[in-house]
Amino acid sequence: MPDFLTPKQEKLRQAARALGKHLAELSSASDDPNDLRTKISDASKAAGIFSLTQPKDHGGKGGSSTDLVIVRDALGSFNAGHLPGIFGPSPGLLGQASQEVKEKFLVPFLNGQIHGGFGFTEPSDAIRHTWGCYDGSNLVVNGAKSYVTGGLEADFINTLVEVEGEGPAMVLIESRSPGVEIAESFNSVDGSHHARFTFCDVRVPSSHIIGKAGTGLKRALDQINAVRMAIAANCVGLNQFVCDLLAESLAVGNASETRERVHFGRMRTMAFAARSSLYRTAGLLDSGQNSVNEVMISKALATETLNDLVDQAIQIVGGEALVESHPLAQIFKRARSTRLAEGPTEVLYANISRGFLDLNLGKI
Ligand SMILES: Cc1cc2nc3c(=O)[nH]c(=O)nc-3n(C[C@H](O)[C@H](O)[C@H](O)COP(=O)(O)OP(=O)(O)OC[C@H]3O[C@@H](n4cnc5c(N)ncnc54)[C@H](O)[C@@H]3O)c2cc1C
Repeated sequence: MPDFLTPKQEKLRQAARALGKHLAELSSASDDPNDLRTKISDASKAAGIFSLTQPKDHGGKGGSSTDLVIVRDALGSFNAGHLPGIFGPSPGLLGQASQEVKEKFLVPFLNGQIHGGFGFTEPSDAIRHTWGCYDGSNLVVNGAKSYVTGGLEADFINTLVEVEGEGPAMVLIESRSPGVEIAESFNSVDGSHHARFTFCDVRVPSSHIIGKAGTGLKRALDQINAVRMAIAANCVGLNQFVCDLLAESLAVGNASETRERVHFGRMRTMAFAARSSLYRTAGLLDSGQNSVNEVMISKALATETLNDLVDQAIQIVGGEALVESHPLAQIFKRARSTRLAEGPTEVLYANISRGFLDLNLGKI
């Protein structure tokens, strides 16, 4: 993989490549963000890509892990994977919620009428993890979450809450409930927007607990795993984009310097390793094996490789690559957050060690 794709997967790859090329042209020609998003979604629907992230029982195409990797890798290789509106919303944790919650939130969420956030990270000064206690048929939640992406627009936050006596639970908290406050909103250098939420005696119906209390960490990690694969696949595509861009630059400059060729060869070696790992992990996921450790490996490898490659490419191209409008400068800013978001590399490495040493899990 990707050299061993089935004819159907190869067709998907071609469709995603054509879409990536089109979106890259579209994004450089358009300056109205709303108009751009609509055009992107329309093009993605026409290419048969838009609903791949939605399961079949929610009206989508239910793409496999390998399908999603193929598409994200192809889009990344045109530096288009970060654009908004390519994929429709996927139910995520809402798909596992109670019937009552599904009826109220799932349909408007999938139609794009309401928006959600994911509340996992605690503020560094938190005295205790966000917690909840039962009071009759309600859960009373207190605490804070620090880095909720899209928090300002979110109508609800799927929040990891430590339920007293039962353990961690994912709980849907409506962001306009009494006691919920946005303490701060901020942007990170990659261009994404976030909010810090505080919860003060927020009363949430017990039916808003997703699945059983005590299973929250596993549910959160399942969601995180899917996002780790998405980040890794986009980075793998970008690794190719960076290598292609540098190859063009070296050809124009007619690089005969051994030093540059050695750097370029090392970059291609790293890109090959990251890409091979990613497709192998997608295959393991599709075969139903426990692949938590391999997902961490692929995410760490893809993101660290991209940061290394883009930094090296800038160094070789020189100052013009740091002009803000240059694609390498833009990728440099976006790539940095991938080493932290959905688990810093060091935390992944520590967990990969734990997986093998304590749980006898994980392949090489
Ligand atoms: C763009 C972006 C989007 C994000 N979106 C969300 C979101 O939607 N929802 C959400 O909940 N969070 C989100 N986050 C937060 C993200 O998950 C955290 O930043 C990340 O998990 C690191 O946590 P932290 O910032 O608290 O750093 P810390 O946990 O304080 O870690 C700082 C550093 O300490 C070291 N370290 C920490 N723990 C260990 C360990 N066990 N072993 C070895 N080294 C360790 C690592 O070097 C690490 O990089 C987002 C972050 C970014 C950058």
